[in-house]
Amino acid sequence: MYQYKRSSELFTEANKYIPGGVNSPVRAFNSVGGTPVFIKKAKGSILTDVDGNEYIDYISSWGPMILGHAYPKVIDAIKAKVEDSTSFGAPTELEIDIAKLIVDMVPNIDKVRMVNSGTEACMSAIRVARGYTGRNKFIKFEGCYHGHADSFLIKAGSGASTFGVPNSPGVTPGTANDTLTAKYNNIEEVKQLVTENKGEIAAIIVEAIAGNMGCVLPKKGFLEDLRELCDKEEILLIFDEVMSGFRLGKGGAQEYFGVKADLITFGKVIGGGMPVGAYAGSSKIMDIVSPVGPVYQAGTLSGNPIAMIAGYTLLKELNQNPQIYTELADKTEYLHKGLDKVFTESGFDYKINRCGSMISIFFTDIDVVDFDTAATANNEKFPKFFHEMLKRGIYLPPSSFESYFLSNSLTYEMLDKTIQAAKESLEAMK
Ligand SMILES: *Cc1c(COP(=O)(O)O)cnc(C)c1O
Repeated sequence: MYQYKRSSELFTEANKYIPGGVNSPVRAFNSVGGTPVFIKKAKGSILTDVDGNEYIDYISSWGPMILGHAYPKVIDAIKAKVEDSTSFGAPTELEIDIAKLIVDMVPNIDKVRMVNSGTEACMSAIRVARGYTGRNKFIKFEGCYHGHADSFLIKAGSGASTFGVPNSPGVTPGTANDTLTAKYNNIEEVKQLVTENKGEIAAIIVEAIAGNMGCVLPKKGFLEDLRELCDKEEILLIFDEVMSGFRLGKGGAQEYFGVKADLITFGKVIGGGMPVGAYAGSSKIMDIVSPVGPVYQAGTLSGNPIAMIAGYTLLKELNQNPQIYTELADKTEYLHKGLDKVFTESGFDYKINRCGSMISIFFTDIDVVDFDTAATANNEKFPKFFHEMLKRGIYLPPSSFESYFLSNSLTYEMLDKTIQAAKESLEAMK
C-alpha cells in the first residue's frame, strides 16, 4: 500500500515558503485533491518519490522526457559540458550547432532564436508578428495555452466577437483589448473576428494540435483554412509547437499536418529537460529581431551551454533515429486499444483523443473538439480515477485538462500494467 508520509511533511513545509507549495500551479494537485507527491529521482519511465513509492510516468516532465528520464547520452553530455563553466554571456559554437540542427529538422524555417521557456517564445513571437505587420491585435483560441505572458491570459466573452476580458488579476484591460479569442476548430468565428477587425490583426496563434485542454485534434481542414485566411489577410500564422515540436515527429505539426506556419514556437522537448524555448521563421521575418532589426528581445541566460548541450543531444538522437516516432505512435495506439476495452467494459462514459504520442481520456459522452466540450469532462470522475491510478503506481497528469505524454522508455509490459490498473481503478470507482 502506498503511503505519502514524507511527501505530506514536505508539502506542509513547502507551503510556508513557496506560494501553494509549488513553483507551477498544476503540480499542487488542486484539481484532483490530496497531497502532491514529491519526486526524488527518475530513470526511464519510472518515477521514485521521497517515500520510496514507484510510478510509471505519463507526464514525462510535460513532454521533454520523450526518451525517458536520465537518458544516458543526455546526462553524459551535460556532465562533460558543465566542467567548462555553466554560463558565459557570450556566443558559443554549440549555439550554431543546435540552430543548424533545428533548421534541418523543422520545415520552412531559416533562423531560430533561443530563449528560456515556452512562455518567452510565444510572447516574443507575438511581438515579432506585431513589429513585422505594424498591427496590434492577435487571435488565440479558447483552451489553448501559450504560457503565462499577460496577453495570453484572456478568456473570451460570451459572444465570439466580444473583446477579451482578463482572467487573471494583474492583466490590464488595455492588454486584454488586443487579444481576441475564438473557439478551437471553429473557422467561422475566426473569419468573423478578422472581418470585424480588418487590417488590425497581426497574428493568429494556435496549438496545431491542442494539448492544454486535454489532447484535442484539429478538424480536417481547420489548419488549412487558417493558412488560407492568413495569406489572404496578410496575417502571420503562428504554430505554438511548445508541445508538438519534436514530439509529433521531427518536423513537428507543420510536417505532420502538411500546413506551413510563418512563425513556430518551441519549448519542452527542445531543451531535453533544461529550461529552453525558441522561436523560428523565415529570414525575412526573423531578421526584424534585434540586433539586425528593431524588435527587441534578449536574455542573459539564453543559449546557456548546459541547456543547449542537453537539447542538442536529445534532438540529435531523435533526428538520427526517426523510427522512435513510429515506436511511440505504436505504443500509444496499443494503450488506446487497451483502455478502450476496459473503459467499454466498465460502462463509464468516455472519449479518448490521441495523436502521435499524446493521448487523453475524457469522462464524457460528447466528442471533445474544443474547450467547451473538454469542460464537460471536468467532473468528479477524473479526480477519483487519478487517485485510483496513483495508488496502483500510475502517475497521470493531475488535471482532466492535460494530455498524457508517452515516452519511448515505456515498455509493453508497463502499458499492460497501466491498462490493468485502469480496469481495477474503474471497478473501484463504481
Ligand atoms: C507548456 C506550454 C507553453 C509554456 O511553456 P513554459 O515553458 O511552461 O513557459 C506554451 N505553449 C504550449 C502549447 C505549452 O504546452
